[in-house]
Amino acid sequence: MTIGILGGGQLGYMLALAGYPLDFHFRFLDPSPQAPVGRIAARVTADYTDFEALEKFAHGLALVTYEFENVPVEAARFLQKMVPVYPPPQALEAAQDRRSEKKLFQQLGIPTTEFADVDSAHDLENAVRKISLPAVLKTCRLGYDGKGQWVLRTPEDLQRVKSEIPAAPLILEQFVKFSRELSILAVRARSGETAFYPLVENHHRGGILRLSLAPAPNLAAQLQAEAESAARRVLDALDYVGVLTIELFESDGRLLANEMAPRVHNSGHWSIEGAVTSQFENHLRAVCGLPLGDTRTLGHSAMLNLIGELPDPAEILAIPDAHLHVYGKSLRPGRKVGHVTLRADSAEQLTQRLRQLPAFFHGEEFCLPGQAAKSAK
Ligand code: AMP
Repeated sequence: MTIGILGGGQLGYMLALAGYPLDFHFRFLDPSPQAPVGRIAARVTADYTDFEALEKFAHGLALVTYEFENVPVEAARFLQKMVPVYPPPQALEAAQDRRSEKKLFQQLGIPTTEFADVDSAHDLENAVRKISLPAVLKTCRLGYDGKGQWVLRTPEDLQRVKSEIPAAPLILEQFVKFSRELSILAVRARSGETAFYPLVENHHRGGILRLSLAPAPNLAAQLQAEAESAARRVLDALDYVGVLTIELFESDGRLLANEMAPRVHNSGHWSIEGAVTSQFENHLRAVCGLPLGDTRTLGHSAMLNLIGELPDPAEILAIPDAHLHVYGKSLRPGRKVGHVTLRADSAEQLTQRLRQLPAFFHGEEFCLPGQAAKSAK
């Protein structure tokens, strides 16, 4: 059986690697002839809105899924006329726009940051009066890794930003003084069965995810229950099938939903070695109508993104239970080109292993398990 995947980046690459043992075949569609999946699977190079190419792409596929959330919704709907598409295009639609995403959270009673819509410089003045500073201005669409965002701390920032903002829908969010950033990975099968991974603690550097700790250190059962309840409401409301990720802030012991991704997620890469069933296998099981796999963790894991450069593999692999993943992308500053997962049987052992990381990591001060949470942004 052949599964079609829209997007040919590292998420698609890891989906295929998880699917081959289950006897699945893959066909990818990506606008870039350099998409990393070209190394391991059939790849069609075409724009997502090239409907003729989409029709050819769909021929003979059992189903289509995606690894990139900015696939145009009309492409997913077009494919749906020929072949099942999971997660459903309405999930893509809700997640592509920060306003619809926040409004969905609100409708479902999921706490979010306070926000106001901004469509003009005049709206921005009103929004700042309503939300007050500090605040974060974000484009509603196509923002990622901190792009399309402006932090406003002072009235001068507000004046400066007015001349910079694009003529596109924006939202102004209250700046949350969070104690840490977390994410929950949830999966829902075609049958409606659901499963959840433990909350993951995430640290960013320059707006890009650098380190994930799984499970999140000092994780209170009530926080996990709160996150699962929120994720379940979103899954059920969207009649979702596949893996869904919700990014959250922990603030004063409460969770605030920041955003969601209707796909496998960078903060779930640790699950390849650190969980009984990885997020990639569970996504495939869900979309193919198979029973979901066990989401329990195997000890403690840390996942480090390799951004723009690669370390000496021998130095990484000398650490016990260290796993190196290189995506086959050309090296460019700010680009995720691979990741390392360190797995251990206890939080203490994981801390020791993080300390064994080579000088390549420039002596970065990671928030080690068991230490007080702090943001590495
Ligand atoms: P996002 O694209 O919404 O995930 O934002 C990227 C990063 O910016 C987040 O991971 C946070 O570290 C930070 N951030 C986003 N929104 C806020 C907010 N309202 N308050 C404080 N920090 C934020």
